[in-house]
Amino acid sequence: TSFAHFGFDEQLMHQIRKSEYTQPTPIQCQGVPIALSGRDMIGIAKTGSGKTAAFIWPMLVHIMDQKELEEGEGPIAIIVCPTRELCQQIHAECKRFGKAYSLRSVAVYGGGNMWEQAKALQEGAEIVVCTPGRLIDHVKKKATSLQRVTYLVFDEADRMFDMGFEYQVRSIASHVRPDRQTLLFSATFRKKIERLARDILIDPIRVVQ
Ligand code: AMP
Repeated sequence: TSFAHFGFDEQLMHQIRKSEYTQPTPIQCQGVPIALSGRDMIGIAKTGSGKTAAFIWPMLVHIMDQKELEEGEGPIAIIVCPTRELCQQIHAECKRFGKAYSLRSVAVYGGGNMWEQAKALQEGAEIVVCTPGRLIDHVKKKATSLQRVTYLVFDEADRMFDMGFEYQVRSIASHVRPDRQTLLFSATFRKKIERLARDILIDPIRVVQ
């Protein structure tokens, strides 16, 4: 598979060419077409596999389609991950590829300045990259709303569970409209993650890197 097989438009292809990736990684070859089709997906993949781009590129396509259908407030896509570092890394990739369509991304994580994050959320962004507890804090304080979210990603789900975020992960999933697309990434696929997948995904396709 080459990048041309994904059917991305010229704006996104331009950003991918600028990144100097020569070819898609295995998780991208398998995952991108599934995510583009609108299906829910479980990706068993580790850091270094290229999983981030595998959910970001289809997300950008989804957002552009959705923006045409629906006006409104609040993010269209949310990416939930375990740590501040990962949040910042994913946010950087969202900004890099989101340039294709001038989409805005905001990163909100525990330990960061609550007020500054709230201000950034209120200025509006199509993409929010967050740690679970902090997102819930902002939703409670009405700094943002989940009503427009139709693309939901949980990255490194096993690590979020190890850190005790299971309740928050489930709470976020239950507050996003049911007609969403959900993608779940995890390095391992233990019983607890399997159970989560059964509860929050609909008829998912599983991709193992
Ligand atoms: P990830 O597994 O998403 O954390 O990505 C690991 C690293 O691989 C990141 O630095 C990405 O920028 C890079 N990367 C992602 N996709 C590709 C690709 N198709 N070719 C080369 N590098 C890539």
